[in-house]
Amino acid sequence: MKRKITYNLTNSIAIDEKEVLKYPIPEINEMDVNLSQLQRNFNIIRNLLKPETKIMVVLKGDAYGHGMVPIAYELEHFKCDAFGVVRLIEAFTLREASIKIPIILLAPIIPSQASWVVKNNITPMVDNEEIVKALYKSALANHKIVNVHIKINTGLNRYGIEPEKATEFIRRIQQEYPKVIVEGIYTHFQDAEFNSEFTNKQIKSFNKVLRQLAEENLRPSIAHAAASAGILMYPESHYDMVRCGIIMYGLEHKEGEKNLPRGVKQLVTLKARIIRIQSLKAGEFGGYGSKFIAKKDTIVAIVALGYGDGVSRNWKEVLIAGRRVPVVNYFMDGLMVDISDIGETVREFDEAVIIGTQGTESISWEEASKYLGSYADEQIQRITERVPKHYFYE
Ligand SMILES: *Cc1c(COP(=O)(O)O)cnc(C)c1O
Repeated sequence: MKRKITYNLTNSIAIDEKEVLKYPIPEINEMDVNLSQLQRNFNIIRNLLKPETKIMVVLKGDAYGHGMVPIAYELEHFKCDAFGVVRLIEAFTLREASIKIPIILLAPIIPSQASWVVKNNITPMVDNEEIVKALYKSALANHKIVNVHIKINTGLNRYGIEPEKATEFIRRIQQEYPKVIVEGIYTHFQDAEFNSEFTNKQIKSFNKVLRQLAEENLRPSIAHAAASAGILMYPESHYDMVRCGIIMYGLEHKEGEKNLPRGVKQLVTLKARIIRIQSLKAGEFGGYGSKFIAKKDTIVAIVALGYGDGVSRNWKEVLIAGRRVPVVNYFMDGLMVDISDIGETVREFDEAVIIGTQGTESISWEEASKYLGSYADEQIQRITERVPKHYFYE
């Protein structure tokens, strides 16, 4: 089946079963997304789970900046069990794109969203009776049922009902709101990477809730707790389903934070052309203000990727001619880099690699983000839609 989606400003992307997409307008920068690597990551992570454990892939934040719909098409094809998002617009976009598998909203909805949720077969998180009531009314009005997942607060203190109130809450839903089906129950860890003592407490507290519910014959069929760190570090927290976000994209929040499974790698590289080369004499300015004044005769290049494309201020280095070169100034539409050391070998319109490998040098998202005091997924999500995403299979 050929599916056509309009993806961003410049591009209409056709996705075929095995062959993806040409973008019609040749751009001077691009973000390349390796879908073969996505499949490898998915298979490796799937194999960390028991066969009966389901996998939800978290697609919030435009699939952590990778482009939600194309990533969703791939994952649905790989037999992913569910998608997790947090905004109604994300869930709705997936349904509009003909995604059929369960879509779970992992953050609270507001009452006015209830009818959209019901009509589009979206599964909301629920921790509040007012929302249950709104869902029930919409379900009645539309002759539908609505599946919900109850969130239990075991210590993150963001959303969720308290453990001791879980049984009563679920019983009430069963009795008072029969169109609302409690399909799932879950919790979320506060600091799974670094605080095993607290994580174990959270697991214990969640287990206690599940035991009580089982005794009352009220245990929902899908219990889940683990996000990426839980998947890797707490197999006992896999329950009936896991919620996999950042590691599916081959990323860690910070360099060296978790041990990514062998073979799980990042999907995204970022490239831009050199659109001008300038020679500066000692004392001349490079770009706005006095951020850069040439100390000696200097050759600079303008690389066509700036904050209008989502590159953060204080980006440190890029790769040109297989070498690391320093960024010296910064614009909406470009980075100015000092190429004095390699000037002879560089031509206008050559390619610079902002994230990825060139020759024997590489810059990872984690490394680049570290210098910005930021996280890899945060930086990818900043890349704006005027940078065409080029999806490919190896
Ligand atoms: C974002 C999110 C996840 C995914 O977390 P990762 O650490 O990226 O795997 C899982 N569950 C909830 C509730 C989330 O908000």
